[in-house]
Amino acid sequence: MIEVIVTGAAGRMGGEVVKAVTAADGMRVAAAVDASGATGTVDDGQGGSVPLTHDLASALSGGGQRVLVDFTVPGAVEANVTAALAAGVHCVVGTTGVTDARWREVAAASRDVCLFVAPNFAIGAVLMMRFAQRAAKYMPSAEVIELHHDRKLDAPSGTAMRTAALIAAARGETPASPGRETEVAPGARGAEVDGVHVHSVRLPGLVAHQEVIFGGLGQTLTIRHDSIDRTSFMPGVVLAVREVVSRSGLVIGLEELMGL
Ligand code: NAP
Repeated sequence: MIEVIVTGAAGRMGGEVVKAVTAADGMRVAAAVDASGATGTVDDGQGGSVPLTHDLASALSGGGQRVLVDFTVPGAVEANVTAALAAGVHCVVGTTGVTDARWREVAAASRDVCLFVAPNFAIGAVLMMRFAQRAAKYMPSAEVIELHHDRKLDAPSGTAMRTAALIAAARGETPASPGRETEVAPGARGAEVDGVHVHSVRLPGLVAHQEVIFGGLGQTLTIRHDSIDRTSFMPGVVLAVREVVSRSGLVIGLEELMGL
């Protein structure tokens, strides 16, 4: 039985993780941790509930196979993961807003346990990134539009950052810009991530969506993924919990666990 410690358990994603872990075979929620203001319980989706705690240190102590699943905020995730790795607890991280370079530094301190980080746990989003990577070789002119709910703290999204990095690596040279444009309103052309223009939309009603648009001679190709519900991320989270206990070191991206 894998003991799962959920940080951010009172949040939108953390609440879904508690339900998904409770429903999955071979694992259980050992602790539901949230920021100090959180009190009460979290619905486990099976007619029961799990008490919330803000005592991460106690939650991390104990024996057996233990995995921390973190869906918190960019300002908290690093400290949570550092404490877990020091306690010999494997980590599955969904919180975005921390660079891969920083995760490499955090993971270097602890090589015996696994730190798994994924910017997106939805299988469709992982496929979208892979398809975009393939397309970039043949259609190197590409831009990314990511659309999220209006309470998201970071922009661009972790998925968009990773998509841009994959496109940049696959296409090699950045296509030459015609160089004729003027930004009449600053930011009109979006952020530039690894030479790829990325546009972030934030609106109520959205969950997590992304379009990658490729332009070629007389044609465009659009690859789009929509997470219409947070349950879309849960099979990926459960898979990661199962996988990390037999791995060590830093692993980035769900595709690494799926053999994609
Ligand atoms: P959310 O609803 O705001 O939940 C975050 C929770 O973390 C809140 O309850 C917050 O408490 C709590 N928290 C803050 N500091 C903490 C700490 N030190 N220890 C424990 N809990 C703490 O946000 P969300 O929509 O669930 O998203 C969480 C993260 O997941 C974001 O970074 C988001 O981008 C990411 N995400 C990733 C994926 C993926 O597939 N990788 C998918 C969706 C979202 P307070 O409200 O009291 O601060």
